[in-house]
Amino acid sequence: MKKIIQDYTKEELGEIVKPPFRAKQIYNWVYHKHADSFGQMENLPKAMRAELEEEFTLHPLTMLSRQESRDGSVKYLFELHDGHTVEAVLLLMKEAQYHEDGTLKHHRRYTVCISSQVGCKVGCAFCLTAKGGFMRDLSAGEIVAQVLEIYKDQGIPSNHRVNLVYMGMGEPLDNLENVAKAVKIFSDMDGMSISPNRQTISTSGLSSKIEKLGAMDLGVNLAISLHAVDDELRQQLMPINKAYNIASIMEAVRNFPVNQRKKVLFEYLVIKDVNDDLGAAKKLVKLLNGIKAKVNLIYFNPYPGTDFKRPDPEDMRRFQEYLLSKGVLCTIRESKGLDISAACGQLREQKLQEGGAQ
Ligand code: SF4
Repeated sequence: MKKIIQDYTKEELGEIVKPPFRAKQIYNWVYHKHADSFGQMENLPKAMRAELEEEFTLHPLTMLSRQESRDGSVKYLFELHDGHTVEAVLLLMKEAQYHEDGTLKHHRRYTVCISSQVGCKVGCAFCLTAKGGFMRDLSAGEIVAQVLEIYKDQGIPSNHRVNLVYMGMGEPLDNLENVAKAVKIFSDMDGMSISPNRQTISTSGLSSKIEKLGAMDLGVNLAISLHAVDDELRQQLMPINKAYNIASIMEAVRNFPVNQRKKVLFEYLVIKDVNDDLGAAKKLVKLLNGIKAKVNLIYFNPYPGTDFKRPDPEDMRRFQEYLLSKGVLCTIRESKGLDISAACGQLREQKLQEGGAQ
């Protein structure tokens, strides 16, 4: 099997293709010019191109399907070399910018939500990915290639400002080594130049790995999928809470090096009559005491076969207003891509049912 070129940092590549400036040229072809073959890399010696072609692949993923939502989100299903499939979602954000005369214009900004594993071991009750079990970790290159393929598909210029969230299939901290490597490859100035402070690692709360990630000091942002404020309920929703309870997560977050102008994001999936009451909001405020935090309230997105329900907008607003009144920054995330089932795992699940993907 050929090696994946996107698995290599520029420094690693420089050890293989001597002299090392060749690695910079290859990065330029892969990440800026979006080369389809090594043969196109005309500033490399012919013999080197042939050797690269022999040993490496530029295409670790094949796009199986793309579904566009009315709000502009696009959900991709990719096939890996061994037939497994993963998803990534492109979210279209609008950023307010101003013309010179002070009038408002909108600028397109993208966020790409990427997968880090095929399946997941964490087993959250509300998650479709969890139902398929765990298959394997993605390599750094398979993580990087998801974004690269989306750039190519959308014609996004390589210098465009894009944010990344490791929030697709899988628990990124359960694949920390490869995720950390992907962070470095993404941020290489000769590659995609996606700075670590535009990359957010979202975890179900593996406290010991949060500490480890903090010690690596990569400069990435941290998001915690909290979803419940007491251990009993959290354990029901996220069995991983037995191993890493809320107190241990909060302790790890307090020790995490947060970029000065940033906050730790707490994701709170709101489920009707489960965790949408004011009592929960009060406990949440207490838990966040002393942490530079921002809370994202997310509408639960019902999928076939679940008993959980979407919360009422009034309850969402009440929850949000309470947090804001206590000085906790809080936004409500509309379920982007609702009409294409953009909650993680759903597109893959459809394909599985059709017998079209593993
Ligand atoms: S929500 Fe995330 S962490 Fe939980 S089972 Fe699904 S993929 Fe894993």
